[in-house]
Amino acid sequence: MTETIAGRLPHGDAALIGQAIPCFRCGVCCRKYQARLELEEAEHIAAYLKILLADLVEKYTDHRWPGQSSYLLRHQDKACIFLSIAGPDRRTDCLIHPVRPQCCREWTAGLSQPECREGLARDWHLAITLAGELSGTEAALASFYSFLKSLKKWPKQKNGGR
Ligand code: SF4
Ligand code: SF4
Repeated sequence: MTETIAGRLPHGDAALIGQAIPCFRCGVCCRKYQARLELEEAEHIAAYLKILLADLVEKYTDHRWPGQSSYLLRHQDKACIFLSIAGPDRRTDCLIHPVRPQCCREWTAGLSQPECREGLARDWHLAITLAGELSGTEAALASFYSFLKSLKKWPKQKNGGR
């Protein structure tokens, strides 16, 4: 027997229902895709890391990428090389968040995103109903909802989000 979170949210938290959901930092999207960046973005990241552009390209980009004026961030251990996993809740951080590539800024978390759904299922044992609402056991929903509230205490991540 499952229930939706809709009936459990205190008044004022209805924005969490439906498609609107903050990034809960499962890291699935950062594991699934390699971020592409332009030369200027690479220069910003190198400056942020206080390293030479040549060293950034050498250590952090995928050498298989054929582009001359753009790059692809390398994956390491099946995730973006800048993805950090912190804490027992498997919450992830982007180590270059202030200068992350535009494609990462444009990525928006949402219940319609297969990657976010994968994270919900994997980390929280939650699914999405046909009506687009979170579905799971009462304990799982309560745990996730409490986690969402704690997100406000963290530094902002991604787009809305990550
Ligand atoms: S948000 Fe950060 S960790 Fe995730 S793909 Fe982009 S650069 Fe990598
Ligand atoms: S955008 Fe979605 S898939 Fe990516 S880290 Fe956030 S919740 Fe996970």
